[in-house]
Amino acid sequence: MRLKDQVLGVIGGGQLARMLCMAARRMDLRTVIWTGGLEAPASEIADEVVDAAFDDPAGCVTFCEKATVATVEFENIPKETLAQVDAAIGLHPSPEAIATCQHREREKLFLRENDIPRASFEVVKNAQELELAVKRVGPVCVMKTATFGYDGKGQLKLEGGENLDKAWEDFSCERAVVEAFIPFERELSVMVARGADGKMVSYDPAENIHRHHILDQSIVPARVAPEILLRAKQIAEKVVLALDYRGIIGVEFFLLPDGELLVNEMAPRPHNSGHHTIDACAISQFEQQLRAVLGLPLGSPRLLSPVVMLNLLGDMWEDETTAPDWERLFADQEAFLHLYGKEKAQGRRKMGHANFLGESIEEILPRVQASKEAWLHDNH
Ligand code: AMP
Repeated sequence: MRLKDQVLGVIGGGQLARMLCMAARRMDLRTVIWTGGLEAPASEIADEVVDAAFDDPAGCVTFCEKATVATVEFENIPKETLAQVDAAIGLHPSPEAIATCQHREREKLFLRENDIPRASFEVVKNAQELELAVKRVGPVCVMKTATFGYDGKGQLKLEGGENLDKAWEDFSCERAVVEAFIPFERELSVMVARGADGKMVSYDPAENIHRHHILDQSIVPARVAPEILLRAKQIAEKVVLALDYRGIIGVEFFLLPDGELLVNEMAPRPHNSGHHTIDACAISQFEQQLRAVLGLPLGSPRLLSPVVMLNLLGDMWEDETTAPDWERLFADQEAFLHLYGKEKAQGRRKMGHANFLGESIEEILPRVQASKEAWLHDNH
């Protein structure tokens, strides 16, 4: 089928869908987004918008009539919806791969079954099982809801010595994953894309720095030994093959002081730690996703320049509707501003990001810091 006859359907209408639609628009490829009834930054860019809940059967029919092939930008979509879209027009990645990544318990079991390095963990359903789990994985551990969670949501760190009956009761969920707390040295992530023909390309790993559990900066190249970067790519590719994946995926890692790498989680879609690829790589993660979903050959993930991606969160805004003064950023001649068009800035909401290019990470980091200090108010 020719490109002009294709319509890319994106389930979800957030900033990832917005950037995907931008990549599509550049090629004159039509897009339709399905918002889930939520605020949809992608609606300004997409050709068509289906504004219905993700479990609305009529919304699903309309979406499948308008699109010729589909993908997701958000994994918390009911499984029935994913299966219906797949049966009607084809969904990449597959509903099975999304189901594995959208649910922590399934994700951890998948890692264990496929012998992929991960933190030791136990699945628990009550306070007694929590007690046993803490004995097995160690007193310093992290309890996470088994179902959907991201950016540190649905997590509780246990330090040892807590009343576990109370901890379980307060956590109030049906199933949880209890995993060892990992005293990591760094966090890394690898974006891998796999095309319709099974070919894979991996981007250079990003070194991720979090602020209050949310990504603050991604640094590429990551400041770790080349053999660790290679190993991270190899493990990420093993994950992709085990999932029989088509599309782009983000695989997040903990790096231990002794060089060991453990997979923390997978995101079955473009990922925040891949936003630098828009300005700093031959082909961005978004165009790569289009190519994989449409069945086109994948492009080069080559890094063209060292880069630091800085997330622009709501707490940098002066108030809900007043963005920071970007003077400082525009004064930097190799900084690229990306804003998502969200109406209201709040606390940790992702409002945009900026990519800073330069000769080396050492040269870029002080520039990032200078911009950040200009925007962050005293109370942050
Ligand atoms: P997650 O939602 O699982 O990606 O966790 C969000 C962040 O919490 C991670 O990026 C880590 O910084 C931290 N975290 C999660 N799990 C662990 C763990 N087992 N040990 C140490 N830190 C963790």
